Amino acid sequence: MISKLLRDNIRNLKPYSSARDEFEGNASIWLDANECPTALPNLPEGINRYPASQLQGLRDEIARVKGVNASQVFIGNGSDEAVDLLMRCFCQPATDKILVFPPTYGMYGVCAAVNDASIIESMLDNEFNINLKDFENKNAQRPKLTFICNPNNPTANTQNAESIRQIIEKSTGIVVVDEAYIDFCAEKSIISWINQYPNLVVLQTLSKAWGLAAARVGLAFASPQIIGVMNRVKFPYNVGKPSIDIALKALQQSDEMVKRTKELVNNKNWLTSELNSLPMVQRVYPSDANFLLVKFDNARQAYSKLASNGIVVRDRSTQPGCEGCLRITVGTKEEVEKLLNCIKD
Ligand SMILES: *Cc1c(COP(=O)(O)O)cnc(C)c1O
Repeated sequence: MISKLLRDNIRNLKPYSSARDEFEGNASIWLDANECPTALPNLPEGINRYPASQLQGLRDEIARVKGVNASQVFIGNGSDEAVDLLMRCFCQPATDKILVFPPTYGMYGVCAAVNDASIIESMLDNEFNINLKDFENKNAQRPKLTFICNPNNPTANTQNAESIRQIIEKSTGIVVVDEAYIDFCAEKSIISWINQYPNLVVLQTLSKAWGLAAARVGLAFASPQIIGVMNRVKFPYNVGKPSIDIALKALQQSDEMVKRTKELVNNKNWLTSELNSLPMVQRVYPSDANFLLVKFDNARQAYSKLASNGIVVRDRSTQPGCEGCLRITVGTKEEVEKLLNCIKD
């Protein structure tokens, strides 16, 4: 089934074979890749060498942490790379379509535009839930990729697992569930479903709860068929060695990550109750993520007031269903306090 969905040129692709992929045996002198034999002083050891092209070490470690097989793990230059790569693999430019549930993450639309895939929209309802009937109607146009952001950015809510299951089962294409915020959320990841559904891709990232936004390490989990294609199509050295090493160090500290995530969730609950008591706040939407979507009487005014105090939030008021809304990331206790004082002022 997966093979049929691929673009013809991708199905027949002969991947780039790196110098190091081809060598088997014991080597101590590397004169195969036109690298510099030494690194400049005060730089990390080995920085003069190309990293492992298939990211074996980090893939093994991610597989261990997530309880999947390394053959089910793709590592990208941020999960945004995975979004773009999936479109390059499956969407024939000027022909194929993707389906999204607005308001949602903007990169699906940007990558679709770059890859010349057209976009089918199935709007979320007033409470930002997926309308399954509408999905079924739109799904008749046979999108190659359907993107479900869960928890959703910018609305912060999660979809119920049964709806997601129905979408996966009814889709004739690939369903991509973007779990960038899953670590903040009481709902469990659906990562284990990749063993059951060959058309499911789950995206995660080290950019949010793991605190590695600058390292650019994104993750995709799927059947070995899909992961195999992604790894053949990606650039050979898509994640740098410093980022690989930093990711490995971070993954050793999952207890600390969980502890900090809990603190952020506490900060969020406090921020939610404080905002709810303010007269200029109309609504704080329920959040399963590390940010809040907040409806103000006058969003522009609130935005400007915060900005003039050096506090940057995201104005989402032009997004469908988000009129009057700002998206506020949950920061430290001190940051939350400053934000609240500024709004109260
Ligand atoms: C932040 C975010 C990401 C993360 O992107 P990276 O490229 O991994 O940094 C992915 N999806 C959504 C919905 C996000 O909000």
